[in-house]
Amino acid sequence: MTERREPITGRTRLAVVIGDPVEQSLSPVIHNAAFSSSGVDWTYAALRVSSETLGAFIGLLRGSSISGVSVTMPHKDAVAGLVDRLDDSAAALSSVNTIVKKDDGQLVGYSTDGDGLCDALREAEVSVEGSRVLVLGAGGAARSIVDAMARNGSDAILVHNRTVAKAQRLVPLAQGRGTVVSGDDLAAAIRDSEIVVNATSVGMGQPESPLPDGVLGPKHVVVDIVYHPLRTVLLQQAERSGCRTIDGSRMLIHQAARQQVLWTGRRPDVTSMTRAARRALA
Ligand code: NAP
Repeated sequence: MTERREPITGRTRLAVVIGDPVEQSLSPVIHNAAFSSSGVDWTYAALRVSSETLGAFIGLLRGSSISGVSVTMPHKDAVAGLVDRLDDSAAALSSVNTIVKKDDGQLVGYSTDGDGLCDALREAEVSVEGSRVLVLGAGGAARSIVDAMARNGSDAILVHNRTVAKAQRLVPLAQGRGTVVSGDDLAAAIRDSEIVVNATSVGMGQPESPLPDGVLGPKHVVVDIVYHPLRTVLLQQAERSGCRTIDGSRMLIHQAARQQVLWTGRRPDVTSMTRAARRALA
């Protein structure tokens, strides 16, 4: 286990995750393992910040020595309106999961979630470029995935969601390659896809799947971004159908690794981060 051995001093740089609630967040475990693996004098804590105090927190951030911030629910959209600048992806999504404090004091918002999913596919040697992907869900995570898959060269991005109007709002992010899939067309869309991503919350803490049995086949790579449990019912169905599977820890770790690079300029050891996350989830 990679653990911080040096004492925290006045020179130690601090990064935090802000959200409400934050007690269950895995980010402190993952990021502290990452800082240790990089050998940098940084530490990371979870800070509950209510919606009422979010503006005051951003003011504090400007005038304090906090060096990096992860943003989680329910603040991702609100923070996009509070920082000084947004990178392209955060601007397209109007959503921020990472704040970087630049040397000139400017606060810049980034969104690393969707690119984390693309990194997870690359880690499994699955090509994003030219792929045909079916995204289940149209919430915040699905939006970031559609945006990243389009920027990274997917050929076709099919979106299916319980609330069809929300799926339609994701189509502009797909840069002309997006199609909404109705319930009636879902089986055909699965047959037409190579990668299937569950970006709904179905399966989080419950033994449920967003898909019925018998619709997946050996040609599919199935990604579940739900990470509690890691081996979801969907991934069990996919394994039985001979699919390759990627669990929710991969996106979680890779989006955090991107945050580390933005803050410290160093690429952390993904294996140490994974070990820490798996221990916390066990
Ligand atoms: P969100 O904005 O609340 O969106 C939830 C999505 O799930 C919506 O599309 C919603 O459909 C759908 N949904 C919820 N219950 C459903 C049901 N019973 N049947 C069908 N669809 C249902 O949440 P989010 O932020 O996108 O997060 C989604 C999941 O991904 C969560 O479990 C979250 O923990 C996980 N996540 C994982 C990572 C990672 O790094 N691995 C990152 C972000 C999120 P409607 O639009 O019809 O309500």
